[in-house]
Amino acid sequence: MESQDHPAGIAPVRIGLKSRFRFQCHKGISCFTRCCRGITITLTPYDIILLKNRLGLSSEEFLSIYTEPNLLEKTDLPVVILKLLDDEQQSCPFVREDGCIVYQDRPTTCRYYPLGVASLVHREGADDEGFFFFVNEPHCRGFEEEEEWTVESWRKDQGVDLHDAVNAQWTDLVVRKRSFPPNIHLTEKAKSLFFMVSYNIDAFRRFVFESSFLKRYPVDAKTLEKLRTDDVALLEFGMQWLKGVLFRPDAAKTETPPAQG
Ligand code: SF4
Ligand code: SF4
Repeated sequence: MESQDHPAGIAPVRIGLKSRFRFQCHKGISCFTRCCRGITITLTPYDIILLKNRLGLSSEEFLSIYTEPNLLEKTDLPVVILKLLDDEQQSCPFVREDGCIVYQDRPTTCRYYPLGVASLVHREGADDEGFFFFVNEPHCRGFEEEEEWTVESWRKDQGVDLHDAVNAQWTDLVVRKRSFPPNIHLTEKAKSLFFMVSYNIDAFRRFVFESSFLKRYPVDAKTLEKLRTDDVALLEFGMQWLKGVLFRPDAAKTETPPAQG
């Protein structure tokens, strides 16, 4: 989980895959589930696929019940964050006294915690090179435990490698977009295509199969059959297609600064 407690302008300390730390999180710890409240969780495309399938919802239903829109800092790319409950502690909708009810399918950010990953947040200093940092929330007592990890072994233990692999093309798009000069903006159409492929996979499936898409972008029969039912395959296909679309000259416009004087 990620909270926004680094004051703006203070760069988090970068750590790498071989960095070591002591940490353990378990039900007996005094702060148990404290980090599942008052948090900002940016959802990745794979997070949404796992959660909506686990909950038996369409991607539209999941988006409307469980998310709210946001913008990724330094880009004009739309992202979605988990909508917290309107209770005193602003709890995650999936937290209960004895833990997370979607634990096997919990989001990428929750898996990384107490580490933050630079590609999922964009605070000052957390740039595009795929590094990690400690979220460092004062209420987290897990650092007082004995178990020792490297960033690498923590990622493996938390099953985050697979999440990162499935999200790799999306992360790459986000990172490339961040490197655009600030006066270059994506068109509304380009942004809505990015949103659909990234977060609303069921709408993208309809777009592929029920519009003239396949006439303009032919796909072989075997791949097509897979795309009908496999959300992850469709996401990977969509990201590949999106790369071509978003980096075409007509997907962006340059904003001219107002004339002086
Ligand atoms: S999804 Fe699970 S682990 Fe993540 S904040 Fe919610 S309850 Fe906690
Ligand atoms: S130890 Fe840290 S990660 Fe575990 S429940 Fe407590 S605050 Fe959350």
